[in-house]
Amino acid sequence: MPTTPDLASLLAAARQRAVDLGLELRDLKTATADGPDDEHDPEGATIGFERARVAGMFERACAEVSAFEAATRRVRNGTYGHCAGCGQSVPVERLEALPATDRCVACAYSAD
Ligand SMILES: [Zn+2]
Repeated sequence: MPTTPDLASLLAAARQRAVDLGLELRDLKTATADGPDDEHDPEGATIGFERARVAGMFERACAEVSAFEAATRRVRNGTYGHCAGCGQSVPVERLEALPATDRCVACAYSAD
């Protein structure tokens, strides 16, 4: 049984990031509710870019939350640390680097 990273803390941190970014995105949308006029407003391109940047970060944070939730479920059902592709143990070093991964290196690359 590989050592389990502190998934509860990682999940809590990812959730907090998602909440913070969601609020930031909402504020940006509220602040630009009249619609950023990217073509005519000199600030428009900047606002549009900022919204896209925060939206991208929000999506990644949400994906992280899902990944840590899935990893937490795998700990509960005893499959954490086992590759979902080939069933072999995922090396501890890989789990330390990517705590939410469910694939060994070989399967992660062949899945792409
Ligand atoms: Zn594998």
